[in-house]
Amino acid sequence: MSDLQIRHRDRHALREGYSPAVRRFEIASILAFAAVMVWLLVEIAPRMASSPFLALSALMLGFVAADFLSGCVHWMADTWGTPEWPLIGKALLRPFREHHVDEKEITRHDFVETNGNNCFISLPAATGAALLPDGTAWFFLAAMTFSLCLAIFGTNQFHKWAHMEEPPRYARVLQKASLILPPEHHAVHHAAPYAKYYCITVGWTNEALFRLRFFQTLERAITALTGLIPREDDIGKKAALVVAQQPPPPLPELPRIVLPIDLPDVRGRSAVKPE
Ligand SMILES: [Zn+2]
Ligand SMILES: [Zn+2]
Repeated sequence: MSDLQIRHRDRHALREGYSPAVRRFEIASILAFAAVMVWLLVEIAPRMASSPFLALSALMLGFVAADFLSGCVHWMADTWGTPEWPLIGKALLRPFREHHVDEKEITRHDFVETNGNNCFISLPAATGAALLPDGTAWFFLAAMTFSLCLAIFGTNQFHKWAHMEEPPRYARVLQKASLILPPEHHAVHHAAPYAKYYCITVGWTNEALFRLRFFQTLERAITALTGLIPREDDIGKKAALVVAQQPPPPLPELPRIVLPIDLPDVRGRSAVKPE
C-alpha cells in the first residue's frame, strides 16, 4: 500500500485544533457522565444483587456491544467528514485524523483529552437507561447499557495503552489475556490505508466484521447513495479513490485440520502400541 500517495493533513494544524473551548467541553462531558453513571448504578444495583446471573449476562453483552460500537464510531470518524465541521468536527473527527498522522500523540494526552469525547458520546444512552421503567427486560437493557457505557468510557484508555511503549503492568496483563485491546492486534489498523480492524475496546469483533466485509459494504452503499468518497479527508482524494475502487483484499486462510489418512482400526487396539 506504499504506492497510494497518501496525503494526510498537517500534524501541527490538527494539534492546534485542540482549543480551550474543546477542553472545557470535554471537562463538562466527563463530569456529566460521572454523575449520570452513578445515578444509573443506584437505579440498577438492587436488582443486580437479586438477579446476579441475569446481570452478569447483560454486563457481558454490553462489553461486546461496546467493542462493536467502538468500531462503528471509529469507522465513521475515520471515513467521513472533516475537522472543519463545527463542534463534531473539532471535538470528534480531529482526534481520529491526528491519530493516523501521529499515532503516539494519544500517549501524550492527559485524562481529560483521552476520555472527554467518549463521555460525551455515552451521555444520551446512560441517561436513557437511568430513566427506564421497572421490569426484567428493562433491567436487562439498563444493566447492558451500564456496561456498554463503562466499556466505551474505557475504550480510549485501552487504545492509549495499546500505543504506549510501557503501559502499566496491570494493563499489560489484561492485554496479554485479550481482555482489553492488544497492541499487536491494533497494529493491523495502523497499516495504510487504515481501512480495517476499527474496533478498539478489545478487538473481539474485528475479524468477524472484516470477514463479513461489514464496513466495506456500508462504504459502497453510502458512496452509491451520496457520491461521497470514503476517507477523502484523511488520506487525500487520490489515495481515497484508489482504495475505494480496489477489490476487497483476500481473506487470510484459516488453519487447516489435516487428518491422518491411515486412521487406526478402532476394533484392533493392537494398532496403537503402548510406549
Ligand atoms: Zn483509525
Ligand atoms: Zn490507534
